[in-house]
Amino acid sequence: MNPQKKIYGLIGYPVKHSLSPLMHNAALSHLKINAEYKLFPLQPNELPDFLKNFKKNNIFGLNVTVPYKEKVMPLLDKMSKEARLIGAVNTIKASRNKLYGFNTDGQGFLKHLTCDLKFNLKGKTIAFIGAGGAARAVSVYLSKGNPKRISVYDIDKAKAKAIVKHLKENFKNVDFRFVNSVAELNINDTDLLINATPIGMRGADHCLVDEKYIHKNLLVYDLIYNPKETKLLRLAKKKGAKVSNGLGMLLYQGALSFEIWIGKKAPIEIMRSALNEACLPAGRE
Ligand code: NAP
Repeated sequence: MNPQKKIYGLIGYPVKHSLSPLMHNAALSHLKINAEYKLFPLQPNELPDFLKNFKKNNIFGLNVTVPYKEKVMPLLDKMSKEARLIGAVNTIKASRNKLYGFNTDGQGFLKHLTCDLKFNLKGKTIAFIGAGGAARAVSVYLSKGNPKRISVYDIDKAKAKAIVKHLKENFKNVDFRFVNSVAELNINDTDLLINATPIGMRGADHCLVDEKYIHKNLLVYDLIYNPKETKLLRLAKKKGAKVSNGLGMLLYQGALSFEIWIGKKAPIEIMRSALNEACLPAGRE
């Protein structure tokens, strides 16, 4: 064991399918940083002690995934304004004796959407299917770009209502709507449709949207990246819509986390190649 080696990693459960080690270890080795990014599958009762012992384990930074994005918050010393606004943490920086929480999911999504996909948010109409942690992070960042309208549907109506209430309280210039069904999302009159549910990850999953709603001026963004092409994306492509899977979001949220930990510009193309090489067309399962 190399005692000088700094440790970074991902905490969550399960984490074994994560692509984060590939992109972060490629970046660390490219910059010749003596560090390693590891996976830490944790049971809920292991979380407090794991965080308490970060110094002993030489941990300098962590990503956080399901189911701990909210649960880590009371265990941290300080949180960024964005993490507090989103209500979840996906990045922890350990410095001296303290743990600092950040959220790079929303900003990562926005970077991919605006820099790579060249999507201009101003005046646009947006529809969300799913109102969990990822939707919360992404919708906060989209709201900053002055879209005209954001509509939210979730099978759990209370969750969709809660997001809409939270967004209304924090952003005054956007028309936020809670809706009861996919039909009420009014996708025919929408510029950007986001799937923020896990539906589509398994081959047996149904497609959440009827093909009659999909049109050529729509961008369908599925936050899922494994498989690379969900049934929803396949249908959208067939109907002539623009499509994106969640790999770009994964890349940019990872790059932002890397910069928080290391304090240097992330080698984005190295990280992108590592992800592209790992992601086979049919997914990794
Ligand atoms: P989450 O907190 O579990 O939220 C998912 C939401 O979708 C839940 O509220 C869930 O309701 C709802 N839902 C499930 N089935 C539905 C259906 N048929 N119709 C409408 N709503 C439905 O998960 P998350 O962390 O937000 O993640 C959502 C997706 O984004 C996952 O696929 C995840 O892998 C992906 N993600 C990607 C990235 C990336 O970097 N690309 C980052 C984060 C997340 P119930 O709780 O009632 O089931």
